[in-house]
Amino acid sequence: MNSEQYRELTLIGAGLAGSLLAILLSQRGWKVTVYERRGDPRIKGYESGRSINLALAERGRHALRAAGVEDAVMAQAVMMRGRMIHGLDGSLQLQRYGRDDSEVIWSVHRADLNITLLRAAERAGATVHFHRRLHTVDFDAGYARLIDDRDDQPHDIRFRTLVGADGAGSALRAEMVRKADFDEYTEFLDHSYKELTIPPGPDGGFRIEPHALHIWPRGRYMCIALPNDERTFTVTLFLPNHGLPNHAAPGTDDPSFASVRSGAEVRALFARDFPDALPLIPDLEQDWEHHPPGLLGTLYLDRWHLDGRALLLGDAAHAMVPFHGQGMNCAFEDCVALAEAMDRHGVLEQAFAAFEAERKPNAAAIQAMALENYIEMRDRVDDPDFLLQRELERA
Ligand code: FAD
Repeated sequence: MNSEQYRELTLIGAGLAGSLLAILLSQRGWKVTVYERRGDPRIKGYESGRSINLALAERGRHALRAAGVEDAVMAQAVMMRGRMIHGLDGSLQLQRYGRDDSEVIWSVHRADLNITLLRAAERAGATVHFHRRLHTVDFDAGYARLIDDRDDQPHDIRFRTLVGADGAGSALRAEMVRKADFDEYTEFLDHSYKELTIPPGPDGGFRIEPHALHIWPRGRYMCIALPNDERTFTVTLFLPNHGLPNHAAPGTDDPSFASVRSGAEVRALFARDFPDALPLIPDLEQDWEHHPPGLLGTLYLDRWHLDGRALLLGDAAHAMVPFHGQGMNCAFEDCVALAEAMDRHGVLEQAFAAFEAERKPNAAAIQAMALENYIEMRDRVDDPDFLLQRELERA
């Protein structure tokens, strides 16, 4: 199919990658229609409850710059100069990411970021339909069925090309895998997470150092906290999966989702292992009991496209564990790489193949680094020998 002839594309998912890609392609004159499962976050608020804030690095900023939205996003971002390590004895140690404030990362609020990108996508000319969940695809006939989950009504659409930015549980990927062999495999991590909140202090300010990514490393488990621009922190506690449905019983005395079930048990855990964090989280018990644990995994796929008819990107193509803070950054890089590949190649199948050849090795490398970084964050960031070795490597 000659993309110059039609320049029309259907995107599934208006999350982070979907809305950024919609901007980049609309700016290039493509007619972009986006279908999103959830409601419009500008009307009813953001339905997620998962990874409320994210670390934005230069890779991601570069993509935002290319789409002309960097300033709008950075206006709400909080600078993080380094990792603030919280010892069990209450000690604090800031490990800077670079030599000065030119080498930092940023904490961004997922909902604010998504809304900024959606607005820009519509301004650029993209059409976004909410409450449209991709259900099934007939690739040969060029029809897709979408469902409105509010009334279960089906909506059928015609398409020339589908691009799946519908996240780790991608429905488009499931349909592509039924059509051809993609050798799909997800390796779930044996740890999951729960999110908690540190509200602003009595004076309305941040309760702890705002310009840092806080880590409470405790060997086989850990807590982290990222600042939000409304003076709160989102705390994420990572624990072994034992105790979750379909997971084995605990083999050690380490806390796990088996030993920490109730609000009282999570309070006891914090009192013992994160004592300086405990007074910062007044709604600890409620947060714990109301937030479901989030599973984490790495998605491996042999290929990302079905000739010129369908392509996956972002988490739909290469979901990864969050310990390098690079899933979104990598998804944003995908968007720029795809737009540029489509600039270079008049035929979509060739553009998709070039995109896949460029991005797949990169994504695989970041996925591996993200897995390695979990061990470093939870077990080694407070080890003086390890830190000395890192300094020597850097010198
Ligand atoms: P998503 O953001 O998941 O968006 C997918 C969109 O598709 C959603 O809007 C969804 O509603 C929609 N959708 C889903 N199914 C359908 C369907 N059938 N039909 C229509 N629409 C559908 N990354 C970082 O770079 N830095 C971090 O600090 C970071 N921290 C993280 C912390 C945690 C705990 C987790 C879990 C992840 C973290 N990530 C981080 C990773 C980041 O969240 C993802 O990589 C990023 O959200 C991927 O964007 P995406 O657009 O591909 O997918």
